[in-house]
Amino acid sequence: MDAIITLSQLYPAIFYCLVFFVSIMVGSFLNVVIYRLPIMMERSWQQEYESYFSDSGAKNGENKNASISTDSKPTSSTKTFNLVKPDSTCPSCGHKIRAWENIPVISYLFLKGKCAKCKTGISIRYPLVELFTALACTLAAYQFGVTSQALWAVAFTYVLVALLFIDLDKMLLPDQLTLPLLWLGLLLSTQNIFVGTTDAIIGAAAGYLSLWSVYWLFKLVTGKEGMGYGDFKLLAALGAFTGWQGLPIIILLSSLVGAIAGILIMIIQNKGKSLAIPFGPYLAVAGWLTLLFKNEIITTYLDYVL
Ligand SMILES: [Zn+2]
Repeated sequence: MDAIITLSQLYPAIFYCLVFFVSIMVGSFLNVVIYRLPIMMERSWQQEYESYFSDSGAKNGENKNASISTDSKPTSSTKTFNLVKPDSTCPSCGHKIRAWENIPVISYLFLKGKCAKCKTGISIRYPLVELFTALACTLAAYQFGVTSQALWAVAFTYVLVALLFIDLDKMLLPDQLTLPLLWLGLLLSTQNIFVGTTDAIIGAAAGYLSLWSVYWLFKLVTGKEGMGYGDFKLLAALGAFTGWQGLPIIILLSSLVGAIAGILIMIIQNKGKSLAIPFGPYLAVAGWLTLLFKNEIITTYLDYVL
C-alpha cells in the first residue's frame, strides 16, 4: 500500500490509471446494484404487505398460506436474492455468466454484445455504465490530484452513478444509498475533507428543507406532487459534501440541465404535455459538477455576469 502511495506521488499517471481500472470494475458491480436493489426493495415491501395482512387475518392458518401464494410469486420471494446471490445469468436463456464473460467492457466487445450461449443481444447500457463510471471517477481523481479528497470524490461518484440510473429506471432514490451518502458527507466534514462541519451540517439541513418547501408549495398550489422525498434526501447528502455554499449552484445547475433535457425530450417525443421526469439524475449530475468544479463555476459565473 505504501509503495502504491509513493509511486502515485512520483507518477500521478499511475494513480489515475489505478482509479480508472478499479472504477471500471466497480462500474460492473454498480450495474448489479442498479438492477437488483430496486427488486430487493420491491420484494421487502411485498413481504411487509403480506405479513401485515396475514397478521390481521391469522385466525385460520391454512387459508392464510393459500391466500399469500395466490397473490404473490412464492418461488421468487422465497429464493435468496441480494447483490451477490444468485449468480448473474442471461435473462433469456438462464445461462450462467462465467468469469471471463464478466470482464468490464472487454467481454462485451469480445462477445459482440451477445450472450455466449443463446446469442441474445446484451444491452449496450452495461458497458456504457462501466465506462461512464470509470471516466467520471478518473476526472474526479484528476481534479483533486493524488489526495484523500480524490478517493472520497471517487466514492461519491460511485453512489451517484447508482442513484442516477436507478432513478432513471424506477423513479426511485433508495434510502439505502442516499442516507449513507449523507452520513459519509457529514463524517468527512469532521476531517475537513471537502468542507468544514458547520458548512456541511447547514448544507445538509438547508438542502433537505429547500426541496421540502418547494414540494409543499407546489402541492398546495397545484395539488400535484412534483418530486419525491428521495430528492430531498439526495440534496441533503449533496449539501453535506459541498457545504451550504454549494446548494445555490446545485439548484441552478440541475434546473438548467433539467430544462434543457426536458425540452429535448419533448422535441424528440413530439409531445407538448408534461412528462414525469425524475429530478434525481439532474441533482446527481449537478451535485457532482459542484463538488468538483465549485470554484471554477463561481469564477466563470462572476466573469460572465460582471
Ligand atoms: Zn442467453
